[in-house]
Amino acid sequence: MSETLPVATIRTQVTVPLRFPDGYTTTARLFTFDGLVDGREHLAFRLGDPSAAERAGDVPLVRPHSECLTGDVFGSQRCDCGPQLREAVQRIADVGGYLLYLRQEGRGIGLYAKLDAYALQDAGLDTFEANVALGHAEDERDYTVAAQMLAALGVGPISVLSNNPEKTEQLGRLGITVTEQVPTGVFLSPANADYLAAKASRAARAADLPFVR
Ligand SMILES: [Zn+2]
Repeated sequence: MSETLPVATIRTQVTVPLRFPDGYTTTARLFTFDGLVDGREHLAFRLGDPSAAERAGDVPLVRPHSECLTGDVFGSQRCDCGPQLREAVQRIADVGGYLLYLRQEGRGIGLYAKLDAYALQDAGLDTFEANVALGHAEDERDYTVAAQMLAALGVGPISVLSNNPEKTEQLGRLGITVTEQVPTGVFLSPANADYLAAKASRAARAADLPFVR
């Protein structure tokens, strides 16, 4: 059963050349929106040529990426967000699709609370237990705005670039047809090993649950 998706519209679109610290360059078409349900400034990056993919009988590759200031911008080694973002941009640009940059820091609890959670993790809790200890859900991310952006962009069926089945399930419940979930690479460093282990054990538990559509 699909939930009713509030309508969002494209506000502005603009072309931005991108250059990453490792020298990789590409060009993105950025979209902003009116009518996103939480009123935050989420962005869609169109990369490559998704309409060519559709003409070839393929579907656009889409990554919903939740903002991580410390990882995305500053190269924090406590998570794998920066390398995942870098990988996603290139893989999407190669085949055509969209990167949806979602302003939901720290699994949706916000930047300061994420750093509070880091402090608790330094005292021995894992990333999910720390969120719960702070009075939050383990994961408060919500992909409604991602579905709204895809609808506003006129995107039909998609494949989702993610290791997280929850994203695919939420998008499906929101009426987005997901034909495939494509895994991302795993970027291990000494500083993020515990984080990745916690993520993997929770994801394995989630993967055991029957899909709800
Ligand atoms: Zn991160």
